[in-house]
Amino acid sequence: MAPDARQKRRITILGSTGSIGTSTLDVVRQLGGQDRYEVLALTGNGNVDLLAAQAKDCGARMAVTADESRYGALKEALAGSGIEAAAGRAALLEAASGDAEWVMAAIVGTAGLAPTLAAARKGADIALANKECLVSAGDLFVRAVAAGGGRLIPVDSEHSAIFQALEDDQRHAVERIVLTASGGPFRTWSRAQMADVTADIARAHPNWSMGLKISIGSASMFNKALEMIEAKHLFDVRPDQIEVVVHPQSIIHSMVGYVDGSVLAQLGAPDMRTAIGYALTYPGRSPLNVDRLDFAKLSRLDFEAPDEERFPALRLARTALTRGGLQGAVMNAAEEVAFHAFVGGRIGFLAMADIAEAVMDRLAHLPPAAAMDDVFAADEEARRVAAGLIG
Ligand code: NDP
Repeated sequence: MAPDARQKRRITILGSTGSIGTSTLDVVRQLGGQDRYEVLALTGNGNVDLLAAQAKDCGARMAVTADESRYGALKEALAGSGIEAAAGRAALLEAASGDAEWVMAAIVGTAGLAPTLAAARKGADIALANKECLVSAGDLFVRAVAAGGGRLIPVDSEHSAIFQALEDDQRHAVERIVLTASGGPFRTWSRAQMADVTADIARAHPNWSMGLKISIGSASMFNKALEMIEAKHLFDVRPDQIEVVVHPQSIIHSMVGYVDGSVLAQLGAPDMRTAIGYALTYPGRSPLNVDRLDFAKLSRLDFEAPDEERFPALRLARTALTRGGLQGAVMNAAEEVAFHAFVGGRIGFLAMADIAEAVMDRLAHLPPAAAMDDVFAADEEARRVAAGLIG
């Protein structure tokens, strides 16, 4: 017998049309679909046809595009379905602060910060894919979730791994956390080889299928840099307790080292649906149709130290962690502007780190954020400076 409607878990997916969003809908489908979940809202931006199709498929109450100019197209695509269509930033914030118990935060970039905050303040459990929230707003974001009363459950595969390997009553005994990195498509390339690559070459990740920004960020290792800062705020560790190791097979998703020398790791096939499923069923686990590891076939797992000369983003993350304050917000915003300039063919691959570093140095004097408005102001200022440097 289908569970009573009141027993269904109310969920909202911010960024449903993206890579994480579509995987989330697949997990929801696998775990019972409309029998177990009531989808209050799905949100997207440019891809309104997919958004409408998803909303019909999962029986969402509402579909929202952040792009106001796409309202007509969304309304038309939903005509006769009974699903409410809405558009624009205000509508996105309203959908985020609805009545959901669980919200997947999977909008890409800083655009995800305000809606995720709105959901956190409303008290929803936040399944956090959008690492930019923590990189930019840090402890302020963590405190906003706590004040709202919801739980913060990481979705990034590395942070999900650490979350799973952390023994709650032994947090005091954590010595280090070890983030694994695939090394991306340019793991063995020299800087001279990387100088002329295009976005099409940089986006081809060897192990994971992901959205454009995170794929380019994996190639430059800026994604790992953001993850280092994300880890600091999620797990409340000191910067010197955060290690990165290159592990090209992406089988060990990350590890926790304890004071007695033990290291606990979480392993799995490189498929985000495992981390998404864990975030949806936490603290339980449910069966998922994903690839299983076959250790006999795996045969080897490799590890190597990351090269901060070829991948300066890692050094910039350490700088941001050491300086503290608003440097995470500044680094994140500068990198986002540089990423768009690279994808648009206006700067080279290596210039992304140069621009982020220059903006961080220029704005190193900003005082620590006292409130969320300071974060948004630093983000804006960093974008202005980065845009000026790019010309
Ligand atoms: P995608 O680019 O695939 O999807 C991004 C989503 O955000 C889409 O739904 C897109 O809408 C929406 N969006 C884009 N711009 C805006 C905007 N200005 N306002 C509102 N919504 C917007 O990204 P991913 O799914 O790859 O990544 C999402 C987040 O998850 C990122 O923060 C990423 O770092 C993180 N993450 C991703 C992983 C992955 O495997 N992909 C792994 C771990 C973390 P539309 O498509 O309709 O334009």
